[in-house]
Parts: sequence; C-alpha cells; structure tokens
Amino acid sequence: MTVREIVTHPAPILRRKARKVTSFGPELQTIIDDMIETMRSAPGVGLAAPQVDIPLKLAVVEYGEDEDEETPPRLYVLVNPEITRKSEEKEVSTEGCLSIPGFVGDVERSLEITVKGYNRRGRPIKINAQGWLARIFQHELDHLEGVLFIDHAEKVWKVDEAPYQAAPNQAIPAD
Ligand code: ZN
Repeated sequence: MTVREIVTHPAPILRRKARKVTSFGPELQTIIDDMIETMRSAPGVGLAAPQVDIPLKLAVVEYGEDEDEETPPRLYVLVNPEITRKSEEKEVSTEGCLSIPGFVGDVERSLEITVKGYNRRGRPIKINAQGWLARIFQHELDHLEGVLFIDHAEKVWKVDEAPYQAAPNQAIPAD
C-alpha cells in the first residue's frame, strides 16, 4: 500500500465530475488500498478518489461514534455511491477538508441519509447514516460531483491548526 499525495484546492481535478467505476479488478483494489492508507496517514475520516488525482466515483470513510470509544472506527468503501434519501431535518456544523488545509467552515447538511452503491467487490450496499457519519458521506459524495464544502459553507475561516491533526474522535472530523 502506498500513501498518495493529496491534491489541494484549486486543483482542477477537484472541480471535475468523477466517472463511474466499471471494473472491479486489481487496479481498482490497489487504488482503494492506497486511499485507505492515505486517509489513515493524513489522518482524516474520509477521502474521495479525486483528492488523490483519480477521477472515479469512489470514496473511503473511516469513522467511529465519539460516544462509544469501545467500538473501533468502521471502514466504508463506497463505489459509485448515490444518496437515495436525505432527511428534511438539517444541522449546521463545522467541517474541514484534507484538500483545503488550514480552513474550516459551517455547512448545513441533512441529519440522516441513505447511500446506495457497491462495495470493493462490486456487491450492492445500502447504508443508513446519521449525524457525523451522514455529514462525512455528504461531504465525500460532493467531491465526486466536483463540489467542495466551501461552495455551500455559510462561513469559512482560517484555523491555525489543521482540524485533521486532531484525533478523529475529537474536535472536528476532517474529510
Ligand atoms: Zn474533502
């Protein structure tokens, strides 16, 4: 596994719509393993393929609920993901992005969502997520459409310490 370089704003690839994954062969498996390694090394709670210069509909997320420290963070690999349901109920919270180091912003997101897609072997998956996990999924899926959190942030500001330097279970999860 290799840690890949994370591209940062304003790299054009971050603004392109990602292409659908059509093959689940060894090449995709290598990309996924590298993305997991890159996300953990950052460290971050999520990473979308365009952030490592790959224009594919693919994201990895690793997140554990803060209240439950006994449970290890859960890893999700999302291939060709789509949000099929979004709650009307929304919440504003502060988030950051590995591709926009040094900045955070207040973004309104749905509290609960359903994501459908495929796992790394090409089997269909469906995930119901709420709270931070739902926020992370919405942030990562935005990346696949060329959208960044600064596009719909109500407020963006600079932080001295990048939020992803905090442990994933503390402070602001950065995706
Ligand atoms: Zn991001």
